[in-house]
Amino acid sequence: TAYGPHIRGDSQQALLLLGPEFDWAELLNWNGSGMSVMEMSHRSKAFMSIITDAEQKLRQLLSIPDNYKVMFLQGGATAQFSAVPLNLTSHGETVDQLVTGSWSKKAAQEAEKYGLKVNVACKGDNKSVPARDSWKLSSDATYVHYCDNETIQGVEFHTAPDVGDALLVADMSSNFCSKKVDVSKFGLIYAGAQKNIGPAGVVVVIVREDLMGKARDICPVTMDYETMKDSLYNTPPCWSIYMCSLMFDFLLEQGGLEAREQLNQKKADILYSIVDSSNDFYAAPVHESVRSRMNVPFIIPSKPELEKEFVAEAAKLGMTELKGHRSVGGMRASIYNSMPIEGVENLAAFMKDFADKHS
Ligand code: PMP
Repeated sequence: TAYGPHIRGDSQQALLLLGPEFDWAELLNWNGSGMSVMEMSHRSKAFMSIITDAEQKLRQLLSIPDNYKVMFLQGGATAQFSAVPLNLTSHGETVDQLVTGSWSKKAAQEAEKYGLKVNVACKGDNKSVPARDSWKLSSDATYVHYCDNETIQGVEFHTAPDVGDALLVADMSSNFCSKKVDVSKFGLIYAGAQKNIGPAGVVVVIVREDLMGKARDICPVTMDYETMKDSLYNTPPCWSIYMCSLMFDFLLEQGGLEAREQLNQKKADILYSIVDSSNDFYAAPVHESVRSRMNVPFIIPSKPELEKEFVAEAAKLGMTELKGHRSVGGMRASIYNSMPIEGVENLAAFMKDFADKHS
């Protein structure tokens, strides 16, 4: 098409990065073993080397300190909404939840099931994060949970929230490995793989070692961090872990997370600057200070009837899935790690043409 590489909405797109130069034969014959990772025993030497390697590369990418465990688990980020309270709290304790969009709200609702005092310390309007001095953090909270990037609303913390000495737990599902993160500021980070680092089926959990071994008796064994610490208690998602490892290679080769962050910022800036210079044809609902670099929502405020046409015309040019989440409407461009800057430039060119035509 005239606009080149496809841009996609919030789909699982990490693997697009493997590109045509990837040795696809490797997928059926891993390292000359005659076997695909899909058919390997998870107890085999070959798979042991794959999972060890994946962990080492992730440790390198994020400079994960030695006193943190890295796990590759199943059940997605949603399972962690339960695993976190089941591992870190006892019945009757207090937890603080920063609610800044749909996912942090879901996490808070799930925590309600476990006999905790769930304190919503701040509640955003889905467009901004309430000012820090308005948060009502509890003095006795076991942890503070928040979502670093709200995928649906496009609200992203540009720096980790300041919660003093409280234990910070982060859902980084939709911006994991998109930027540098100081892991030592966190007690626990979890992230589903499928946005930025691999196919669905694996959730990465990074947890400080002193928080292990405290799970409640009723915690399902597959969620108990102490039991799952080597990710090999039961059959792990071998294939997904292997694919993540290839993505970690790619990210390291491309200059690590500092380079990735710069590129992702540049990509997002291109789209937001089209919105901001459109003489109000487009609007970005989210406050500038928390605009997401991963999910860029925008609307056509004075002519909302054109939004359907925008999505349809873009799709004809190969730029698909730009419709905003059903709960918020408008458009949303999800520009995860795998979206090349050319794809973003193409969308920007289309946005400009569309605005010129309809202004
Ligand atoms: N948290 C965030 C920020 C997400 O974007 C998602 C999925 N889109 C989830 C949690 C839920 O993840 P999963 O589907 O892997 O359970």
